[in-house]
Amino acid sequence: MKAIRMVAPGQPLELQQIPIPAAGDEDALIRVRATGICHSDAHYRAGRSPMGMLPITLGHEVAGEVEWVGPDVTSVQAGERVCLHYNISCGECYYCKSGNEQFCATVKMIGHHIDGGYAEYIAIPARNAIRLPEEISFEEGATLMCASATAFHALHKGRVKDGETVAVFGVGGLGLSAIQLAKALGAGEVYAVDIKPDKLELASAYGAIPVDASRLDAVEEIRRLTKGKGVDVALEMIGLPVTVKQTVESLGAMGRAVIAGICQSPLEVHPYQTLIGYEAEIIGSNDHLLQELPVLIDLARRKILDTSHVVSQTIPLDAGKINQRLDDLENYTRDVRAVIVQQG
Ligand SMILES: [Zn+2]
Ligand SMILES: [Zn+2]
Repeated sequence: MKAIRMVAPGQPLELQQIPIPAAGDEDALIRVRATGICHSDAHYRAGRSPMGMLPITLGHEVAGEVEWVGPDVTSVQAGERVCLHYNISCGECYYCKSGNEQFCATVKMIGHHIDGGYAEYIAIPARNAIRLPEEISFEEGATLMCASATAFHALHKGRVKDGETVAVFGVGGLGLSAIQLAKALGAGEVYAVDIKPDKLELASAYGAIPVDASRLDAVEEIRRLTKGKGVDVALEMIGLPVTVKQTVESLGAMGRAVIAGICQSPLEVHPYQTLIGYEAEIIGSNDHLLQELPVLIDLARRKILDTSHVVSQTIPLDAGKINQRLDDLENYTRDVRAVIVQQG
């Protein structure tokens, strides 16, 4: 089969002909129909994150059709449309059994540690394949598996309850999903913080109250809008030291700050003023869980989560075109979200 693979860090991906992967008794072989090209893939290609093997087929946002299932598989069958949970875990350990499989000691991410979806086929444990309803295109299904799922998990970590106020720092792919999903979970007012007017406009279109941090102090403005109270839940989805700090400082009594943007700088907080006085919590949020995905897909099927704006371009399984899109992501030259589409 054709696979577009990373051969060495910092080098363009290459087309290789490799065998169709072998699938075991509990696995499903998937004919890939759509694979999202994610910003993480640009980091991987550049060599900024250690890879599980080389060469490796990139691609962790995958949707397709079940081609074959192993004899022990009952959850899906050949011919079904599915999208794939990208973390593959043992299924047996304490973390796997308690539904927190991302902490499994053997967890491997497709397209990062093992071969992913920039290929014609992928083999995966059948439990990682979730049914994709007809109403959702393969392209949309693929992209749901990354940013939207991660935003959903962050909201769960923040324990958003009916009527609570939510602030979302950063209106990118994560933030736009978070705004809609916060509403779906019953949130009251949702404040969207960004510095780009077009992003703030998009956030307003999805029902958020925009906070333009290019001309206002985001924390002061959130305090003003909440009549001094601060928000119940604040989500950080950028990963900048300044926004991490603002996320924590915008909380009200019993507020929860959920940090999902990757930031390597230390965070300075005043334990008394910021945490103790408010009984506030700072929570880390990483990736998402298999059990969250069927719920997320159903919200997309019912159009409660609209991700129709996400995919701005489709391209074939072609090394040159994929490298070009990764260059764009690397250089921020064009704000495109491309998906590799393979027709049936
Ligand atoms: Zn991704
Ligand atoms: Zn495990």
